[in-house]
Amino acid sequence: MNLPASFKYILFFVFTFAVCFSSAAQKRRIGDLFNVNKEQNEMLQGKRVILTNQEREWVEIHNGAIRLAPDPAFAPFEFFDEEGNYSGIGADYIALLQDKTGLEFSIVQYKDWNTIVEEAKKGNVDVFGVATPSVEREEYMLFTKPHLTMKAVIVTQSGVSGELTLDDLKGMNVCVVEGYVWQEMLENDYPDIHFDFVSNSVVGLRKVSLGVADAMVVSMSLASYYIDKEVYSNLWIAGEAEYYVEMAIAVRRDWPELLSILNKGLDAISRNEELAIKNKWLFHREVKLLESRQFWLLALYVTSGLLLIALTMWTFNRRLKRIVNEKTAALKKEKEQLRITNDKLLQAVEKASESDRLTKSFLANISHEIRTPMNSIMGFAQLIEIDQATEVERRHYANLMVKGGQQLLTILDNIIDLSKMDSGLTKAWVQKVNVGQLVKETCELMQPIAKKAGLDLHYSIYDSEGLERVKTDPILLQQVINNILTNAIKYTHEGEVSISAKLVGKKVRIEVADTGIGVPKEFNEGIFEPFQQVKHRSVIESGAGLGLAIAKRIMDVINGKIWVEENQPQGSVFIILFPVRLKK
Ligand code: ADP
Repeated sequence: MNLPASFKYILFFVFTFAVCFSSAAQKRRIGDLFNVNKEQNEMLQGKRVILTNQEREWVEIHNGAIRLAPDPAFAPFEFFDEEGNYSGIGADYIALLQDKTGLEFSIVQYKDWNTIVEEAKKGNVDVFGVATPSVEREEYMLFTKPHLTMKAVIVTQSGVSGELTLDDLKGMNVCVVEGYVWQEMLENDYPDIHFDFVSNSVVGLRKVSLGVADAMVVSMSLASYYIDKEVYSNLWIAGEAEYYVEMAIAVRRDWPELLSILNKGLDAISRNEELAIKNKWLFHREVKLLESRQFWLLALYVTSGLLLIALTMWTFNRRLKRIVNEKTAALKKEKEQLRITNDKLLQAVEKASESDRLTKSFLANISHEIRTPMNSIMGFAQLIEIDQATEVERRHYANLMVKGGQQLLTILDNIIDLSKMDSGLTKAWVQKVNVGQLVKETCELMQPIAKKAGLDLHYSIYDSEGLERVKTDPILLQQVINNILTNAIKYTHEGEVSISAKLVGKKVRIEVADTGIGVPKEFNEGIFEPFQQVKHRSVIESGAGLGLAIAKRIMDVINGKIWVEENQPQGSVFIILFPVRLKK
């Protein structure tokens, strides 16, 4: 399955937390068990033991003066907690018994079990909270019925492999708490073991943990209590000692009343109350992992660590993604810009090659147009040089040379005009122009040529008033009118040429119509380019093909337009349209 990386991390964490919380829930369920027991406990707490009058009297007399001396290092059966409170399984039993019987014990502290035993023998201790009955102890103490059991185990360092039995301990240094029931049993059954009698279980376990002793025979509950609490994390239970003892509450021999009251109290303790106490102190073996503070701390560290790593990776991933996106966008932009630049370059190259092509054809045309009159001038000059030419002939040749010269001059003037306009040097010199007048005069000037060509040339002026106040460049305008009128006469063999001027909105419209050979449609645009001519068979004399190109450029300068249309029924109409007021 292809999931985004960040999603995988989230899934992983959901899973980790689910495991942790399910463990926690399990823990809570175990806790619930305690709570149920606790509730039942509370219910039963009210149930008092029915005492005889004699017993009640005894309680009244002795209450507060019953000295109970707990073993300070016999956890989880009995010990003093960090605040010095009497704690453990025995302590909980004593608390329950106090509630049920109305007894009140006063707790006395002694440094170790041996001292307690000595003090009991002297009559300074009245009660043992938890003790194993033995023949020797029964000389000075009475024992209630057993309420706890204890199994002996062999504790070694966790490196020791294989299950040990007491036989394996022969010749070894083995710690046993002095005065504890195991001492009596072991000394009798295993004389070959080197016993190290210690004052309490903690000292013995510490000796094994440090390697001073090889093993310790100790009660299983006690061993597991300390190992679970990880006071001695390098210890483990290497085998069972096959000893099993029952423990009870002991009272001084001369207090049988107390013994009877305590036995009644023990009878009144329900199974649930018993389980609640045992669960509280012993159950942690079953729920060891979940109860362990270290486990939860470790789980917390591991989870936090993983969360931190995932968060870092997630953030890193996001940042990486953002950087990649930004870079991609920048690259795209760069690519787009490159494409645009490339297109522009291509266009420039195309333009350059087009302009190169145009320049080449322009130069070829110029050279052709100049060569033609030049050749005729040169040719006639050479003829004049020849001696045989008569006077009349020489004069005729000279005439033709002058014509050629004039042609050449016109071409040169046109080329100069064109290049001036192309380089933007031609500027409109705006002034008030009477367009009607200008059209009329131009027409009159052309009359002789038209007449010579056998053509009827006439003009029409509309809106003459409006046409009086036109503001444009009169010289440029006249040049355009001249060119199109000359062409109209030149390309018309019979019929008429007419020119009209009128106002169309804020524009002046001048039309030159002829009944001549006309301009084929496909040439309608081309004829306005330099040297572009329609090859008319019927036309003997045409110019250099610059007249209309110049006219179009002039119209650009005066902000106008020029185009050609078909004349009905024959010929063509050249139209110019330019603003009434050209801004300076
Ligand atoms: P040219 O010196 O050849 O007359 P122009 O630039 O003035 O050069 O005209 C370009 C071409 O347009 C001419 O060669 C001709 O073929 C065509 N032309 C221009 N005016 C007319 C017209 N009134 N009737 C027919 N053809 C025309």
